[in-house]
Amino acid sequence: MSLKFMLALLATLATGYACAAKLLPIEVPALEGAGGEQEFGTDAGHPYQPKEALNSPRAPVFAIDPKDPDSKPLPYYRIAPDTYFFFGNIAEVDGTNRGFNGNAGFVVTRNGVLVVDALGTPYLGKRMLAAIREVTDKPVKYLIITHAHPDHYYGASAFAELPGVKVISHAGTMDYVHSSTIQQSVAYRKAFLPAEMKDFKAVVPDILVSGGHRKELTLRLGGKIFRIYDGGQHHSHGDLVMYQQPGNILWVSDLAFNGRVTFIGDGHLREITARQDWLPKTFPHACLMVPGHGAPQTPPFPMVAQTRRYVEQLTAKISASLRRGESLQDAVDHADLPEFVNVPLYRLNHRNNANYVYRVLEAEQFSP
Ligand SMILES: [Zn+2]
Repeated sequence: MSLKFMLALLATLATGYACAAKLLPIEVPALEGAGGEQEFGTDAGHPYQPKEALNSPRAPVFAIDPKDPDSKPLPYYRIAPDTYFFFGNIAEVDGTNRGFNGNAGFVVTRNGVLVVDALGTPYLGKRMLAAIREVTDKPVKYLIITHAHPDHYYGASAFAELPGVKVISHAGTMDYVHSSTIQQSVAYRKAFLPAEMKDFKAVVPDILVSGGHRKELTLRLGGKIFRIYDGGQHHSHGDLVMYQQPGNILWVSDLAFNGRVTFIGDGHLREITARQDWLPKTFPHACLMVPGHGAPQTPPFPMVAQTRRYVEQLTAKISASLRRGESLQDAVDHADLPEFVNVPLYRLNHRNNANYVYRVLEAEQFSP
């Protein structure tokens, strides 16, 4: 027996399994003034749970009671054979939704479960796991983190701690994990959710896509095929898109928003439309699209066109302001888009988006 093999065996015996994702403590700076009421949080006084998720015109208004044990299943929807969906609030994180302000899902196969995204806290990740356990006793084999924004990523430790789970994410997740942005983000979240975020550790993925690693990854599990694609950096430090067969189900994460205004300040403006063009060319037979926010949708996927129109209209507005020589402040003040003013989270995100687009277009003027 070689020394290398013996060491690997010892490591396996010590941890109980190989390939465990690493958990990284995050240093948290002191944040002043965070943790109060949120203007765009969840309205606890008007709870709402749609009967069907698919093409639902409204997202749930769903309060999380932190007194509930983490073994209590989160509500979930079956959206296709073997395919389940957690339908998050359309809101910013607050003490009512407690980080359940994005979507996630899972797919059951005869050999195990594949999970897409992990919601916003380890506690919510555990409640996702309880829901999975209600559906199947098959082991969780994969967790796909579509991108490392808190509402999709901070619940990942609930899965990474399970034996034999492989966590897959974009290589940009590693940039995020080692940035000061994650420190600010965790500090902010801790201000609202001190109990759920108390011992938070970031999950370091086992398998990376892009950034010198593979550009595509095909997983075959229990008779199903999951093709995972590098979605570039259109929305974050790095985004993945997943195509599930059979069923032709496209998990697009935050490349399209359904019933909510996007936040584009962490991504790359020009990549949004480029990646949206890439979708129908690459997946002409998609039957179902699952976004990171809002209801899953059937063709022709109007949420893609809507997200795109928002980005294009904002870009056109800011371009016009720059041509008139307006300052950043004036351009942002003049950037309102009548089509979108009543779309949820417009007032939360639009000025930040306008600010970002101004800076991008201004920089482009000076680049060759
Ligand atoms: Zn998101």
